[in-house]
Amino acid sequence: MKIDQVSDSVYVVAGTNVNWALVSDGSGVTVIDAGYPADSADVLDSVTQIGHQLADIAAVLITHAHLDHIGGVPALVERAGMPVYTGAEEVRHAKREYLQQISPVGMIKQLPTRRGRRWLAHTMRAIYGHIGMTLPTAATGEPATLAALPGGLVAIPSPGHTTGHTAYFMPADGVLFSGDALVTGHPLVEHTGPQVLPTVFNHDEARTRTTAADLAAQPVRLLVPGHGEPLRVEGDALADGLRRAGVSR
Ligand SMILES: [Zn+2]
Repeated sequence: MKIDQVSDSVYVVAGTNVNWALVSDGSGVTVIDAGYPADSADVLDSVTQIGHQLADIAAVLITHAHLDHIGGVPALVERAGMPVYTGAEEVRHAKREYLQQISPVGMIKQLPTRRGRRWLAHTMRAIYGHIGMTLPTAATGEPATLAALPGGLVAIPSPGHTTGHTAYFMPADGVLFSGDALVTGHPLVEHTGPQVLPTVFNHDEARTRTTAADLAAQPVRLLVPGHGEPLRVEGDALADGLRRAGVSR
């Protein structure tokens, strides 16, 4: 785990090939995403390492219910009993009323490359024993509730990677927590900078691309993605970077 303080109130934590974020306003913490199941202990540790107790966590926000973003939630809820919020549609995904994730065939297709084999080995280790996990307490994050959390957040529906994918924007500082709707890198990809994830991960590729372009049009000053490094943004740098990666409206 690597903790990177990127603003007065925002910490980005790099776990197993995935990021989660902590927003601290002094009195409390909002946790955004929660790593793989194998990152659970690090998710708890990251909160104490920035000087908070688990009881300070006001809520956990989930961008989408993939195993690399929800893994630490059961440990957090068990220890501190905080609410878990995501978008209304993603609540259904979090309860596994349906499942939109990379297929076993999609995973096996990564075996021919060295990057793919390394990613697959990390992934299998990070999800081992927890493939069937769900988030039974997930609820819809209503606008007034999210606005009152540390960070004062706004949910942005960002369909494509999953139908209910939800990004979170912190208007006060222009911070966009983009989850997997807009990333800056991935172990399967050599290129870094604004991009969408490889097609194999996206439930709806066309919507993933239009959503990424829409997010890039927001007044973002700091991008905190689910995968890759956080990125300071000036002017149209996000849209320009995406265009260079072949993504535009
Ligand atoms: Zn992810």
